[in-house]
Amino acid sequence: MGLSKKILVIPGDGIGAEVTTWGKAVLEKIAAVYGHTFTYDEALMGHVAIEATGSPLPDETLTKAKASDAILFGAVGHAKYDNDPTAKVRPEQGLLGIRKALGLYANLRPIVLFDELLDASSLKPEVLKGTDILFFRELTGDVYFGEKKRSEDRNTGSDLMIYHRYEVERIARKAYEAARLRSHRLCSVDKANVLETSRLWREVVQEIAKEYPDVETEHMFVDNAAMQLVKNPKKFDVVLTANLFGDILTDEASQIAGSMGMLASASIGDGTGFFEPIHGSAHDIAGQDKANPLASILSVALMLEISFGLKDEARKITEAIDKTLKAGYRTGDIADSKTEKDKILGTTAMGEKVLEFL
Ligand code: NAD
Repeated sequence: MGLSKKILVIPGDGIGAEVTTWGKAVLEKIAAVYGHTFTYDEALMGHVAIEATGSPLPDETLTKAKASDAILFGAVGHAKYDNDPTAKVRPEQGLLGIRKALGLYANLRPIVLFDELLDASSLKPEVLKGTDILFFRELTGDVYFGEKKRSEDRNTGSDLMIYHRYEVERIARKAYEAARLRSHRLCSVDKANVLETSRLWREVVQEIAKEYPDVETEHMFVDNAAMQLVKNPKKFDVVLTANLFGDILTDEASQIAGSMGMLASASIGDGTGFFEPIHGSAHDIAGQDKANPLASILSVALMLEISFGLKDEARKITEAIDKTLKAGYRTGDIADSKTEKDKILGTTAMGEKVLEFL
């Protein structure tokens, strides 16, 4: 039987609206084919919201967000604020505000490399081929939120690295649940040979692991993980890690996939999940039908898999993207200048191609 879900679309600024149009179109197609009922609402955030209401995150947006089952987000940002660091009201406050209000404590970033784009990465194709990693980065703890101090003489600084058991427990469960929907392998990354927070992290993950005997758990030190990621990325499936280590490792890993226009991310908590491309509002190409819609379409695949447990539907979407790329269709950002074979399309034509293959 089909599922019934309420989805809030927040296009935001710049290319946000251009790419989410295609994310939503793919959702509509999936619903029609699989017999699901997805209903949609739309809300403002970022510069467009400031222009319309004075606030980057209007109350109405938050109310709609809390009432929805999942959120498809585009991007926020406008050149006017980028050049004015003193502006008091800013588009990105909308994003931080909604993450806080929805209690989104886990950031998920899948690193999937399509075979057709193997040459877009700076790493060797034979090392990359078959890479498919899902990162779980903790978002609410660590040195980012611990006490920050500077000595009176300004010559000594310190940041308190702090984790609480409940913070590790809740993200570990999310990661294990996802591992169950994938290849039943999870690698927890820490620095337990040096840090007390990491020893707590490892202890808690070992306890949670007992609830998931069908998932194989590996513990790895972060320095080793950083090295293994470029040496043998295929070794990883679900990677679970703390805020600081996740920050660094996910940026390192994003280079495996080549272009920003290909990467999606999700922020989840105990309620509504939030799905978005990792790229920003890209003022330089906004309104020119040049944006790659694939990251938004992949965000939708992530929503279906993670928020709704629809693994088959998610796979169909990545297969449709794979076929589109195999047929030689590319947006400008992923086109190979060395080959004449690529058929370069705009946002609309690329979105239509994915729908056709779907
Ligand atoms: P950006 O991601 O918007 O763009 C970086 C470069 O990548 C640009 O050259 C752009 O044309 C290209 N690019 C990005 N997405 C693309 C796509 N889908 N297809 C093709 N090319 C693409 O980052 P930026 O230029 O540093 O920032 C622009 C604005 O976006 C700023 O206001 C920034 O604050 C904001 N921003 C928002 C988010 C977000 O909403 N999550 C994230 C990053 C930056």
